[in-house]
Amino acid sequence: MRNLGACLLLSTLALPPAPAAARDAAYYAALAHQETRLATISYRLTAANAGWCPETVPQPGWILGDLRRFEQGDRAAASETYGDADGPFVAAVAPGSPAGRAGLARGTRIAAINGEAIAPPGDEPTIRIDTVIVKVAALDPAAAWTITDAGGRLYQIPPAPGCASAFRIELRGAQAAANGMLVRLTLKLAQSIDDDNELAAVVAHELAHNILRHRARLGSNRSASRVRQTEFEADRLSVWLMTGAGYDPAAAIRFWDRHKRPLIRDASHPPRSERIAALEGEMAAMRTARAADPAAHPAWIDTPPPLE
Ligand SMILES: [Zn+2]
Repeated sequence: MRNLGACLLLSTLALPPAPAAARDAAYYAALAHQETRLATISYRLTAANAGWCPETVPQPGWILGDLRRFEQGDRAAASETYGDADGPFVAAVAPGSPAGRAGLARGTRIAAINGEAIAPPGDEPTIRIDTVIVKVAALDPAAAWTITDAGGRLYQIPPAPGCASAFRIELRGAQAAANGMLVRLTLKLAQSIDDDNELAAVVAHELAHNILRHRARLGSNRSASRVRQTEFEADRLSVWLMTGAGYDPAAAIRFWDRHKRPLIRDASHPPRSERIAALEGEMAAMRTARAADPAAHPAWIDTPPPLE
């Protein structure tokens, strides 16, 4: 169970308003398609590895949305895909996930959790989504819970523990990022990756940053060598996350082979060749560990070496 102040999440996620742009219904249908891919991949990664993740939260297998994320003039077009709920809603559901089995679907407005109304403390574009994320993360992942929609229908969500993190497709900003609580990918990046295994590699890497608490461990000392160390740790852990969820961990290498430029152009990020070598080394280490113990998990995540 997570016990964190809402302000931590809510104060770090504000993005500048989107530039005015007329986007049509097809744009939002394409966004919803990528959100369904992310819901599916993130559900598999978090649920399959819940047994050894240091922290778990309920992972019903959804991506949340809010029409407020979109330009006022675009909301009519967006509502053709998402409905016109005035409040946080389900934007995508992973097939076969607890959310899907409970009857939640795209557009379902989340009015209350365990009978408690969602009361966001402001009107920023994502604050209503973030309020739901914080509320859900505070629930006991081993317990069943309920959602009430705008019409008063009650949905029973079975216990669904998964590695702690929420996920979102952004329309702008950094291509891929993790802030401790949330993994964010841009629509453009998701659309540029056709292979679900390669998209899973990117999501697993960002999820690994959150699992390894890199933002907190780095603190204010983001020296190049410390950041590089977190990048290698995230790459190494992504191998285990991908394998646990039934994805091909070598997809990360294919992704880096195709993406000659790093996602973040920054001297603190290791060169591609070193990252590929680290991924290959970890795959070999995992095979050796799993040969001795099929349930082996990366023990070093419990006490990672200090960042230097
Ligand atoms: Zn990274």
